Amino acid sequence: MIMTLTIEEALRRASFCFKEAGLDNRRSEAELLMMHVLNCSRLDLVLSGQAILPEEKQEEFQGLVRRRRLGEPVAYLVRSKYFYGRPFRVNRSVLIPRPETELIIDASVEWAKGNQFVEGAGITALDLGTGSGCLAITLAAELPQASVYGVDVSRRALAVAAENAALLVSDNQPNWLEGTFSEALKSLEPAVRFNLVVANPPYLTKADMDQLSDSVKKYEPCLALYGGEDGLDAYRCILQELPLHLESPGAVLFEIGAGQAEAVRKLIVETAAFKSVTFKEDLGGWPRVAEALF
Ligand code: GLN
Repeated sequence: MIMTLTIEEALRRASFCFKEAGLDNRRSEAELLMMHVLNCSRLDLVLSGQAILPEEKQEEFQGLVRRRRLGEPVAYLVRSKYFYGRPFRVNRSVLIPRPETELIIDASVEWAKGNQFVEGAGITALDLGTGSGCLAITLAAELPQASVYGVDVSRRALAVAAENAALLVSDNQPNWLEGTFSEALKSLEPAVRFNLVVANPPYLTKADMDQLSDSVKKYEPCLALYGGEDGLDAYRCILQELPLHLESPGAVLFEIGAGQAEAVRKLIVETAAFKSVTFKEDLGGWPRVAEALF
């Protein structure tokens, strides 16, 4: 027999259980799981705290709380994560969008405005390693006149990206290309050139991988995280091919890992294809996005 609980009581029990498991953001994570189970908004949740939680909902909620306690990320449990104000579908084939990656969108929109690409007209944008599609789709939505391409080597990731695009953008659907960076670029007509290139490639080093929390290491795709011994393999690979596919004036925006700024600057400068390299800082004050202009 299951005990009758109000929604508020169930939330408190879940927060307590998360506390015992040493998790952060306990209350907000419990609320996200409950909103998912009840298919309701946060406001509905606040208003209905004293209502009885139906038995089958209680079982479902407890099942999710158990999985969370064992380390599964909330975003995978509720199959959704907000990025730049839009809810993206996610599953274990794609990296969960991170708030710091939104800096790439800010920088892209700023660059587009600064170069008089009104609503993105005249921009052909490329997102390398698109995953959930969060960068490609947000660019397509924020710059509705831009033409956007998203590349991923994972067919499953591209299926998620295509699903997100169908849900989140009405008419400016990105073009999806399956393959490695170089296969995808080679598959394009020679006439297709890009003036905005973004990427949040895998950039964690071997040492970073060893230190990852279990909830990232056990659940998120290694393919989207591990960038080789020094974390820089993806940048090397992208920069080798990319200069042939650019049309100036343009910008390349890469997310980078902690302490990688100087090494990434060096790789960019070595191509001799760019006019300048600068870095945008995240909220913690760390260089997080490399911006190379050409
Ligand atoms: N920011 C991610 C993390 O710290 C890494 C993402 C990536 O490698 N692109 O888990």
